[in-house]
Amino acid sequence: MENAPQMLEMFYEGKAKKLYATADPDLVIAYFKDDATAFNAKKRGTIEDKGVMNNRMSELFFTLLEGNGIPTHFVRRLSDREMLCRRLQIIPAETVVRNIVAGSMAKRLGREEGEKLKHTIVEYYYKSDALDDPLIYPEHAVLFGWATAEELDTIHAMALRVNDVLSGFLDQRGVILVDFKLEFGRHHGKILLGDEICPDTCRFWDKATLQKLDKDRFRRDLGDVEGAYHEMLRRVSN
Ligand code: UDP
Repeated sequence: MENAPQMLEMFYEGKAKKLYATADPDLVIAYFKDDATAFNAKKRGTIEDKGVMNNRMSELFFTLLEGNGIPTHFVRRLSDREMLCRRLQIIPAETVVRNIVAGSMAKRLGREEGEKLKHTIVEYYYKSDALDDPLIYPEHAVLFGWATAEELDTIHAMALRVNDVLSGFLDQRGVILVDFKLEFGRHHGKILLGDEICPDTCRFWDKATLQKLDKDRFRRDLGDVEGAYHEMLRRVSN
């Protein structure tokens, strides 16, 4: 095992993770917290051991994606709550991929949750807490200099690839990938997939029962939030 890199100053604290510098300017350490927020932090709570489960699940998914040729910021998991990552200059547009209508799409467009989309759609949201992450056209990102048109093409293609790989993997484990959010960033000019992939950022439904195995259990007070995260980790670990 390589020596663990030293954790230097914290330079960013988000809702679910803290980021620390290391002696290497190209590498950062992500620390996964148990804090849970929803509706732009208007609802707050903690989910016991969420940080541990999300770190482990993200490791599994990033490893799977790297194995399928999708470049990510993941280097290795350092401990229960720490992950070593490549430092990214984050693009301030969240990428949401949807296979089935749910959440904000159901609400915005007056559609039933659970409606299967004829084909996968990729949406972008401007990362701004002050504006509640509004839905944007990809052109807005180009107009306002958040990403180049070429970068957006790369992101769009990568997001669809991620969907194919994850949907297939999860289907074999009895899970429907309803929708998910990705973040991308630049590392030495190259677009890498960043952030985390876990029940906080994806909607996972059990294939047989359609039971929710993700953060909607917290958002909607459905109970047994921890149980759902544990169940997802168990399924993807096999
Ligand atoms: N999502 C996320 N962070 C956000 C917004 C959405 O991880 O700030 C994820 C969410 O878990 C879901 C997908 O992106 O898997 C689509 O979310 P949606 O737009 O339906 O919004 P929500 O219903 O979560 O407000």
